[in-house]
Amino acid sequence: MNVPTPARCFPLLRRAAGLLHVAALAAAALIAGPAQAWSNHALCTWPALSAMPELASHAPVKVERLETFLAADPAGLAKLLQDEEAWARAHVPNYPPRPDALAFQPDSANGARLLAHFLKAVRVNPGARLALYLQLPPGQAAGARTVLAEADVTVMKTDEAAKLNSFVALREGELVSVNDVIASATDEPDYGLDYGLWQDNGTAHGALYGFGKQPFGNPAVEWSSQGPLHLGYFHEAGIIYRAAPFLKRAYPEYRIHLWRSLAAFALRSGHDYWGWRFAGWGLHYLQDLTQPYHARVLPGVGVMRMLGINALDIVGVHGPKDRLIQLVTNRHFALENFERGWMRAAYGRGFEADVGIQALRNTALDGKTPYADDWPRRVVSAHANAAADAVDASLLRWFQPKYMSDPAYVFGVSEAGVDTHAELAKTPAAHEGLKHDLAPLLGQLGATSRAFVRSLIAR
Ligand SMILES: [Zn+2]
Repeated sequence: MNVPTPARCFPLLRRAAGLLHVAALAAAALIAGPAQAWSNHALCTWPALSAMPELASHAPVKVERLETFLAADPAGLAKLLQDEEAWARAHVPNYPPRPDALAFQPDSANGARLLAHFLKAVRVNPGARLALYLQLPPGQAAGARTVLAEADVTVMKTDEAAKLNSFVALREGELVSVNDVIASATDEPDYGLDYGLWQDNGTAHGALYGFGKQPFGNPAVEWSSQGPLHLGYFHEAGIIYRAAPFLKRAYPEYRIHLWRSLAAFALRSGHDYWGWRFAGWGLHYLQDLTQPYHARVLPGVGVMRMLGINALDIVGVHGPKDRLIQLVTNRHFALENFERGWMRAAYGRGFEADVGIQALRNTALDGKTPYADDWPRRVVSAHANAAADAVDASLLRWFQPKYMSDPAYVFGVSEAGVDTHAELAKTPAAHEGLKHDLAPLLGQLGATSRAFVRSLIAR
């Protein structure tokens, strides 16, 4: 029997690994593109949390500026952030430590200075708006509140948010519902909090923050830079990590734990508005991990097939690899596009009867095990990863072939203004079939969201 010796195997393996690396890099570059896991988290959060009587009966909370919260107990906050950094260093795999020079300094009563210290200590984009605002559910009027422009709330350079979302200003001291605060905040991490954090993003803060070079995605593209904090490929085959070790450098767990700890601190000290807003920020990243295309590099593609395609690549046949990456990217974007149209339509009419809304509110899915720090990796992304192949097959079954199987088609580029939900609604069997197949994902999103929020109520 001709058994390859390690000496003969390793160069081949290295060569294959190198090409797999390229494929994974390209895939991750595309996957970490404009995709936002779930388009508009707030539309999913409202129904998910409306099924929590303990939240519905919660007294409204008083709005306060971030500077007011920071100035209330700077020493306590410094201790909390110090403990948080120690936790991240001990528990987040491959964590890039926050430089000691950025530790929060509680030495000033000056609100603006405290704010600057805080933004550095938690390593967010100092250009993030952090306005006092609420998002309005579709169809809800602004009433007496001032309508805000997109640029008041988000640094996103597209006009998509303005077209789709309504934002209103809040004033310090006014009372707002907890569900509205959390739901609005669950979309906020997509408004630029995590832009430009890597040292090769060409930003002043990226040069200071100590995150290193952007692990995947295109560092020259602003929206791409948030990807490694908003997704987690935690359950790939071992060979994928050997070929593409940069996939391990994804840090949603850092963000989730940081914002949850700040939420608990704010709630403990009577700053409920910031308590629930931080909770919404943490929940955003957890919800991101319920999206299969944020939990698996190439859904629907087995490891052997990937290796086979790379074997072709090795001998100079690059087409299959390029086509595969384009197809998976198109499916990812088509899913998000459908979900956005679906939720907007559900808010328009038939809200109670919609299978997605019902899934989001289905408390029968709530487990008895309380939320714990290892959930993002062990529970949430593992579930999304396990669902990835079936979801991919469902998209393939119900969507038009051009979105699924035409590698010459580039979703979002080949055509403008695509609305896959409206298109599929013309074919009721396909429309209902896809909603039925995707509802379990929304069910998981709902149950996960309630577990996370419940853990802060029961603190
Ligand atoms: Zn996100």
